[in-house]
Amino acid sequence: MPGLERIDVLWITAGLGCDGDSIAMTGATSPSIEDVLDGVVPGLPAVALYHPTFASETGDDFLARFHAAANGQEGPPFLLVMEGSIPDERNKSEGYWAGFGTDRSTGQPILTCDWIDRLAPRAWAVVAAGTCAAYGGIHAMEGNPTGCMGLADYLGDGFRSAGGLPIVNMPGCPIHPDSFMETLSYLLRQAAGNAPMIPLDDKLRPRWLFAQTVHEGCDRGGYYEQGDFSAEHGTPSCIVKLGCWGPVVVCNVPKRGWIGGLGGCPNVGGVCIGCTMPGFPDKFMSFAEEPPGAKMSTAAVATYGTMVRSLRRFTRGSMDHEPEWRGKQPTAGAAEDEGDGIH
Ligand code: SF4
Ligand code: SF4
Repeated sequence: MPGLERIDVLWITAGLGCDGDSIAMTGATSPSIEDVLDGVVPGLPAVALYHPTFASETGDDFLARFHAAANGQEGPPFLLVMEGSIPDERNKSEGYWAGFGTDRSTGQPILTCDWIDRLAPRAWAVVAAGTCAAYGGIHAMEGNPTGCMGLADYLGDGFRSAGGLPIVNMPGCPIHPDSFMETLSYLLRQAAGNAPMIPLDDKLRPRWLFAQTVHEGCDRGGYYEQGDFSAEHGTPSCIVKLGCWGPVVVCNVPKRGWIGGLGGCPNVGGVCIGCTMPGFPDKFMSFAEEPPGAKMSTAAVATYGTMVRSLRRFTRGSMDHEPEWRGKQPTAGAAEDEGDGIH
C-alpha cells in the first residue's frame, strides 16, 4: 500500500483526566509539535492537528472534523489520540461520566465512549496518551465509582486499527514530551511508508523507549551502588529509602531529562512513583516509604557498598595526587636561575 501524503491527528481529551499530557506535549523540542505541523521534519506526511485546546474553531465548527471522521465521510485518513481513562458507562442507571460535544438533534452530550466506538475502528492508528488512557491511571484506583479503564482494556486485546496496528500506549503521568513526539513522528513516518511496523512491547509501549529502568538511567545510581542511601531530602545520595521505585520501573525520564535534557524525577530529588506502569498508582503506594521489595536489596548493597566505598576512598586518595617523582625535578627555569641570584 502506498504511503499516505496527508494525515489528520484527531486528539480527544475527554477521557477522565487532567489534560496534563496535552500540556506536556507542548514542551517537546525533538521534534516539537510546531515542527511536525509545519512540515519541517523529513519523511512525514502533511499533518493537521484537531485538538480542543489548540484549535481556533469552537463548538460545532470544531466538532465538524470529528463528526465527519466518525461518520466515515470522505476526508484524509486520521490518527486518533486519546487522553484520559475510559469510564464504564453501563455501571449506573442514569447520568454519564464523560462526554465530548453535544448531539445536534437531541441536545444531549455525546459520550466519550461513543466517540471511541465510532472513531477507533476507522483510525489509521490509535494512540493512548498518558497512563490514564493507557492503563486507567489515577482515576482507575481501587474503589473508584467510574469503573474506568485503559483504552486497550476498553477496545479489547484483539483491536486493530484501520492501518492494522494495535493500540500504541505512551504511558506517563504526564507523558514525556519528546518521547511522545518521537512516537507520534514514528507513526507518521510509518504512515508515509518510510518506516517499518512500530516495535511495541507486551504492554503496547514503544519498545525502544521503555527497555530500561529508571535506576539504570539515574544520576544517583553510583550512590546506590556504594550503599549511600539518604534519610532526608536535599542530598545528592540515593533516595530509595524515601520511597523511590526506580529499580523496578521502566521509564527513560531520568536518562533523557524532562524538557530540553533538564530534570528527570530522581535526578533532581523526586522519588520515582512508577507513574508509567500499568500498576500505577495502587501498587506503588504509599509514595513516601521505602518500597517493600527494596529492603532486602538495599541491605545487601549497604554491606557490600560500605566496604567498596571505603576502599575506593582509599584508592581515590592515592590517585588524587601527582606521582611522587613529579615536582622533585627542578624546573628548567629553576635550574637556569640557580646561581644568577634572580628568583
Ligand atoms: S534514586 Fe531511585 S532510581 Fe536513583 S539510584 Fe536511587 S533507587 Fe535508583
Ligand atoms: S521517573 Fe518515575 S515518577 Fe518520574 S516520570 Fe518516570 S516513572 Fe514517572
